[in-house]
Amino acid sequence: MSGFSFTIESEDGAARAGVFTTPHGRVDTPAFMAVGTLATVKALDPDDLRAMGAQMILGNAYHLHLRPGDEVVREMGGLHAFMGWDGPILTDSGGFQVFSLEGLRTVSEDGVEFRSHIDGSLRAFTPESVMRIERNLGADVIMQFDHVIPGQSDEPTARDASERSLRWLARCAAEVARWDASASSQEQALFPIVQGGIHESLRRAAARSIRDSGDWVGYGIGGLSVGEAKPDMYRILEVVDGDLPRDRPRYLMGVGFPEDLVEGVGRGVDLFDCVAPTRMGRNGAAFTRDGRLNIKRAEFRLDKRPLDEACDCSACRRFSRAYIRHLFTADEILGLRLLSLHNVHFLVRLMRDARGAIRDGTIDAWSKDWLTRYLSRPVTSE
Ligand SMILES: [Zn+2]
Repeated sequence: MSGFSFTIESEDGAARAGVFTTPHGRVDTPAFMAVGTLATVKALDPDDLRAMGAQMILGNAYHLHLRPGDEVVREMGGLHAFMGWDGPILTDSGGFQVFSLEGLRTVSEDGVEFRSHIDGSLRAFTPESVMRIERNLGADVIMQFDHVIPGQSDEPTARDASERSLRWLARCAAEVARWDASASSQEQALFPIVQGGIHESLRRAAARSIRDSGDWVGYGIGGLSVGEAKPDMYRILEVVDGDLPRDRPRYLMGVGFPEDLVEGVGRGVDLFDCVAPTRMGRNGAAFTRDGRLNIKRAEFRLDKRPLDEACDCSACRRFSRAYIRHLFTADEILGLRLLSLHNVHFLVRLMRDARGAIRDGTIDAWSKDWLTRYLSRPVTSE
């Protein structure tokens, strides 16, 4: 894996400021990765992402397999060429999506049979087939196919899924090793995923078992922010932090509210992703340093201020809350775009600021101040 490396530049408690290098460039960590499920970060184009300093983005194997088809993407030169993004990309395996299809799926040791949410056609994912899909997509980092369960699952259910995920990891790794042996191999790093629900002993066992099973470029932490209480998530992060090698990047999957990012950084997480900033943006919700606001509310009708006075995104530099509220009220698509742009920028910048605080050795005080201010105002109804 010569194209990948991870260098830690500073540590402050459990928090780290590092550089994750991939075949398509570097990622300064901690970092927020914008989610481009269908090969597009909704309402934003790659120039927007570059302008805000985003370095790495996500695609999703399940969605791209169904539409336009991973083979179409491969024929078009892979995800980087297809979507016009030449920076690092990570693809999620689709485990989360497939296991979310309640009533539409059958799980066996071999894999999962499910019906497409688009046309109801019967499909099957196995660890091997998902690796082939992710290979066709051609992202820098590919996630293993894992068994995802609801956040509050009991111990036997969580154990069963975690142990199956470990067996599936071995099959994913064997499939990837088969390509690496062939001359046509492109460089992709397979990240394993630590599962185990909210059960400390399961998380510890999974982290150790994965750590001892290979020389992984980085580690995913999955199955959090799926319905469990926040203190449970933070406690599990601390457990996992103690059992994963410190010299590899850790990616907390699907967790992207600002307060969770700040709490995660303090517990040794390097990479985050979430659809929240774009999904919430399309619903009229904006992150600000003083908490979340809903731009559709009448109180912003004559508000001349930007969404956040300290934000340097292109929405905040040019437009008032009153204008953006008007766009939403009138169903103008520019409104969705501006809020999506602001929210993604907000998280990218938040992680850049956290990185600075780690380098200054002030992450504890910075986090405390940031959280106090952000959480000081109750979230307005949305
Ligand atoms: Zn902004």
